[in-house]
Amino acid sequence: MSDSTLRSFRYGDELIRFRVRAHAGRTAQRIAIHVEPEGGILVDAPAQATDAAILAAVRRRAAWISRHIADSRQRMAQVLPREHVSGESLLYLGRRYQLKVVIDAEGPVTARMRGGYIAVRTAQGEPALIRSALDAWYATRAREVLAARMASLAASLKWVRTPPPLRLQPMKRQWGSCSPTGRLTLNPHLVKAPRECIDYVIVHELCHLKEHNHGPRFHRLLEVKMPGWRAVKERLDALAEQILRT
Ligand SMILES: [Zn+2]
Repeated sequence: MSDSTLRSFRYGDELIRFRVRAHAGRTAQRIAIHVEPEGGILVDAPAQATDAAILAAVRRRAAWISRHIADSRQRMAQVLPREHVSGESLLYLGRRYQLKVVIDAEGPVTARMRGGYIAVRTAQGEPALIRSALDAWYATRAREVLAARMASLAASLKWVRTPPPLRLQPMKRQWGSCSPTGRLTLNPHLVKAPRECIDYVIVHELCHLKEHNHGPRFHRLLEVKMPGWRAVKERLDALAEQILRT
């Protein structure tokens, strides 16, 4: 058995990564696909299997793989709850900040950013209190940042006459959507992602105001308005698990 190599393929909007382990000799007669408990995809293949054959085998089972990745993400989210103690790492606009819990018997529960910290003041160190203070802080930041980016990006696109109605809705598997009537929904967790990733999601959804599907015209439009969007999307995909595990 040689070391595994990392490969990937696209399935709809998803980038699915998988590792291939080549087996010499009689151990593997055919290509076998496993989903590991943490959601990793491992492909055991006979040493003589070509890259194309492996890719074809994985693509054939793409729907099944995608479903299992989603399931294991959900399981992981349940088994690894956030602890909300000082020192915990928090993401905001793609940067890491440390959570600092300050116990303060007086005064209201507050959360604010100070230098490299996001400081939460509470009367007790109860995780639920800290959690709700953090949620409120993130929600406020998300409203401000996402609305501002949306206004600015919408103004730069000819086909958007007025910024569309914007709704923020926490979602497990989606960054945003655009309704047939032109209402945009964004995942507030996006505020944890780097600015260019936020812009990518917003430009993607604004392009849907003109092209309602993911056909070639949509992708041409996106390419013109945001050259290099694929790399940005991959950056966001790579962060998804961390960002959405809250
Ligand atoms: Zn889309």
